[in-house]
Amino acid sequence: MKRTLRCNEAVILIDFSENYECKLSAEVQSAHFGASKKQISLHTGVVYTRNPDAEPNMTCATLQPICTSFCTVSDSYRHDASAIWAHLQPVLKLTAERFPDIDTIHFQSDGPTTQYRNKTNFYLLTHFMNSFAMKEVTWNFSESGHGKSSADGIGGSVKRTADNGVAHGADIANAESFLKTVGSASPKVNFFEVLPSNIEVVDAVLPSKIKPVPNTMQIHQLTWSKLQPSSIGMRYLSCCACSTSSCSHYALKPSAWHFSETTCISTSVKGILSLARLFGHKTAVRLADCAQTVNGNRLSMLFLLHLLAPCLCTKYD
Ligand SMILES: [Zn+2]
Repeated sequence: MKRTLRCNEAVILIDFSENYECKLSAEVQSAHFGASKKQISLHTGVVYTRNPDAEPNMTCATLQPICTSFCTVSDSYRHDASAIWAHLQPVLKLTAERFPDIDTIHFQSDGPTTQYRNKTNFYLLTHFMNSFAMKEVTWNFSESGHGKSSADGIGGSVKRTADNGVAHGADIANAESFLKTVGSASPKVNFFEVLPSNIEVVDAVLPSKIKPVPNTMQIHQLTWSKLQPSSIGMRYLSCCACSTSSCSHYALKPSAWHFSETTCISTSVKGILSLARLFGHKTAVRLADCAQTVNGNRLSMLFLLHLLAPCLCTKYD
């Protein structure tokens, strides 16, 4: 799929790396390790885009695509659907900034039901592809444990860099110090921190109940189009011939699923939102905490922040 990318297409390969166990330099030297160490989550992957030197009508067979590697890091241990989209957001923003022509994304991941292959992730896909103004999307699930992906490779190399930093005196106690240690040492990887509150923002988008999606375990390709923004198409194999329109080859029965659930939006805090525009996301989350102590509506605050996120134009400050 990578080889035949069009100018408006990106393939995004993703995987959670095994959590990194925090280490302090002094402990490593004295070989003294405590029983249970704090860990940090790493979500890694590569964005593949068409090589700009490829001829307009060429299928890109002779030119390698452009690879943009990323690693998002969090103190939160969550690897569920909300966490996935919190980890993906900075990557999607980066992609939109670097490659403004991209309106079609093909995600590729393995298929554990606790992470990527479940109704919550499917619902959030429809939600976020709308908010990122995408045209067409597919999500392709490979069988768990089939082959080592490039995402795995990035996780491994980033962790080795971290260990190397600790061996040379760095202390890694949390996501922030991890990023400080690996950031400058791995210039080819784009790093972002995902705050636990970023994940809560995604939680706030979720309807209170999502109906089960039929044949979830059989789905190997999910399709989405902005023409039917609340629906997904479901196939038991990835079809390259049919884009996101209906597929006569591998469609499951039913071939599509419509999410009738809607996010409940409650609004009451416009003042804080304008502050968010001025001061950025982190400050706004702090303000949300204050709002909670005043009137208990932190979640609706966070949700509004999320809606505004694309126009806030601040990188997770
Ligand atoms: Zn087909």
